[in-house]
Amino acid sequence: MNLNSRTLAVLISMAVALVLTAFLAFARYLSTEGIIVAMAVVFICCFLIIHFSYEALVFREIKNVYSSLEKIKRQDYKKVESKSLFTADPLTKIKDDIYQIAERKQQEIDELRQLQAMRREFLADVSHELKTPIFAAQGFIHTLLDGAVDDPAVRDKFLKKAANSLDGLDALVQDLISISQFEKGVVKMQKKNFDVVQLAREVFEQLELKAASRNIRLHLEVQPDEEIMVFADRNRIYQVFVNLIDNAIKYGREDGNIWVWFTEGRKRYTITVKDDGKGIAQEHINRIFERFYRIDKSRSRDSGGSGLGLAISKHIVEAHRSFIAVTSEIGKGTTLRFKLQKAKE
Ligand code: ADP
Repeated sequence: MNLNSRTLAVLISMAVALVLTAFLAFARYLSTEGIIVAMAVVFICCFLIIHFSYEALVFREIKNVYSSLEKIKRQDYKKVESKSLFTADPLTKIKDDIYQIAERKQQEIDELRQLQAMRREFLADVSHELKTPIFAAQGFIHTLLDGAVDDPAVRDKFLKKAANSLDGLDALVQDLISISQFEKGVVKMQKKNFDVVQLAREVFEQLELKAASRNIRLHLEVQPDEEIMVFADRNRIYQVFVNLIDNAIKYGREDGNIWVWFTEGRKRYTITVKDDGKGIAQEHINRIFERFYRIDKSRSRDSGGSGLGLAISKHIVEAHRSFIAVTSEIGKGTTLRFKLQKAKE
């Protein structure tokens, strides 16, 4: 049977009226007409009380839930407040639950939208970065095919340029693979004890020509034969050193200096790379670790990288349970620091 508030009220009122009139009839207080009138009065009173109580208490609550749903549909969460007559009412609870679910879902939708926007931006950045070396190599090779190949001097020059572009492309793809592996969380650090001073010397050797080309002096602030043993992934830390010192050379001032030194702590060593270059403005300082973030966006690829170096370095240092701290002053230079655990006995 389909029970609505009116049928329920009729049934209950009839039951109450019957019981009462049966009692009155049994007690013989009233005549037959009196009993009929009493029954009618009791029935009508009961009906009105029960029907309107239901309407007011139950159906108003449901209307309340619906009006909340309407507001949720319009994403108007602030105005969805409890107007219920009974706070412990199950209907109020349903309404609150619906509200909470809707709010959670909306948060999920917002996060997904944000992720989608980031993915779109990432794809645009990647394609832009890939395009540059591909177009360059393509241009050189087509020029050679169009006849430049017959002149040996031009041929060698163009082949070298095409090879350089392809090397750049290779480095970029390697960086992208590293970033995606770090973000997936599948990179395991191969930690072992090693001498970080020796590692710094190797990086200096690798970059000394590049530094010399800008007349920059590299200073390793350690005692001769000093050894500093740390427990870390040597190859990955090598990559961090190359990135930081390479940046210090690229963004340092010509005729400038780069210093690297180590400070001993209780459990860890702090490694500092400092340059006296152009520095980083405050508004950029927290963004330089973002993928593809470059302060000078117009810069040519010769003087700068893809904007992935610091993002990768940050991942590596974080995988060693540390972080890269940066301080910088425009015109004075930039200092980057991170910590490495001391060697294990
Ligand atoms: P890139 O490949 O462009 O060098 P990075 O991720 O290594 O990318 O660095 C991001 C940006 O941070 C650089 O483009 C540069 O603008 C800025 N930056 C990094 N290191 C330095 C530094 N030592 N001095 C000044 N600016 C720096």
